[in-house]
This record gives sequence, C-alpha cells and structure tokens, in this order.
Amino acid sequence: MQINPQQDNPSPMRALLIGFALLAPLISLALLGTSVWLAIAPLVVSHMLLLSPTLVANSQWWGPVFNRFETPAREVWLTIDDGPSTAHTTKILDLLARFDARATFFVIGENAERHPHLITEILARGHALANHTQTHPRFSFWCASAAKIRREIDRCAETLRTTPERAANYFRAPAGMKNMFVHPALARRRLALIGWTVRGLDSVKGDAGGVAERIEQRVRPGAIILLHEGLRVENDPEFSIRCLELTLQRLTAHDYKFVIPRPEQLRM
Ligand SMILES: [Zn+2]
Repeated sequence: MQINPQQDNPSPMRALLIGFALLAPLISLALLGTSVWLAIAPLVVSHMLLLSPTLVANSQWWGPVFNRFETPAREVWLTIDDGPSTAHTTKILDLLARFDARATFFVIGENAERHPHLITEILARGHALANHTQTHPRFSFWCASAAKIRREIDRCAETLRTTPERAANYFRAPAGMKNMFVHPALARRRLALIGWTVRGLDSVKGDAGGVAERIEQRVRPGAIILLHEGLRVENDPEFSIRCLELTLQRLTAHDYKFVIPRPEQLRM
C-alpha cells in the first residue's frame, strides 16, 4: 500500500470496533433480564476488542502501521528511538559512518530541544529524523486523550520544524502503543505511523550479543529494525552502542545495506 497520509484511513475493522463499542451497552441492557453474567459479557468483549489493537504494537485494526518496505535488494531500514543524547548520539553517528549505514532517528522532542546541535549533526551526516512525541509518555500514551496525543505530536513536530528539511513525515508511538485517536491525528498532519519488522528488545535484555542475535535471526530484506539509544545496563553505560555495533557487524557479514526507504516503498 502506498502512503496516503491525507486520507483518514477508513479501516473496516476500525468502524466495526467503534460500532460494537457503542452498541455493547445497549445489548447489555437488553440482556439484563436473563443473567448478570450474560449481560456484562458484551461490555467485557468490547473493552477487550478496544484494547487489543491499542496494546499490540503492529496491529492494523485502528489504521495503517507500516512495518516493512518493498525492495529487491538486501536492504534494511535501521530506526533508532529515544535520542538524541549526549552519551550516545555522536558515537552512534561515528559507528554508522564506519559501516556506511544510514538510519532514521525517532527523536523525543524534549531531548531534541535540549541538544539542538545533535539534531544538526544527525542531518549533516546524512541521516533522517522522525517524530517520537515531545515527552515520550511510555506508560500513558496508550490511554491518552485525543488532545494530549495532538499536543505530543505537534510539540515534537514544532521542535523539528526549524528548517524545512527537518520536517519529519514519520511517527512512532512510545512503546508502539497507539489508541483510536492516534491515526486520525496523524492523517490530518500527513504523518505515517511506523512500526517495525524486528526489534532487538534492547530495552529489556541486558545482553548486547543476545540483542544482535535476535535481530540477525529475524531479519530479511525490507525489514524495519528497531533499536534504542541512551540505554545503559549495570556497569555498562555503552550498552546501546554495543547493541548497535554488533547488529551492524552481523548484518554486514550477511551483505545487508542500511538504507532509508522512500515513502512509496513502505508496506503494511
Ligand atoms: Zn521510545
């Protein structure tokens, strides 16, 4: 599917979920005369159906989530979340240069505001930026109101919009969780929601070799790879750097190139 961010995705599943959520209380009322358990069943089912596409990162039920790209070559898209950071960004840029790799940095607006020189450096060294919210509300974005979601997206976009070439066309939700308000907000702003094909689980694993191995086992041409920056584990402040270096080494050994795909290459 080609990106058409102007279109507020008319996903049939989305309409079905919202329709059922509106009908469920009426069905429950109608069933009250039978048994209480039968009566609450539609409400429980409707809540579970609303939560599922919200909490399952690459679920398409609320709208399109691009999780791979079309390519005839052995190419992957490296995406690095949560920067920029003084601890890691410059070292990441040096590593990427060493492997002749390009990447997209899904940055947190607050971090970008704090370190504008790193944003400039990311762009000057041939990489791209994308929107990862202003404050990265990791534990509450999934249940955020429409107004809060708009604010998070717009404030980050504003931070990145100081020059035209910084305008980011892509968005990733914190922890990949997006509720029913996210897609309409993105569509109005011509932003595409980017998921991933393979993630290293670097934010939960404490073993850089294990992170790179997980990616190596699951990678394929056209994969979107998710890694983070700024992660440190006990006694290892360079953890994110080592995860990236090992990933670059292993995939380069398999002849993969690290590219930034064109929008028309993105697929769901
Ligand atoms: Zn993040």
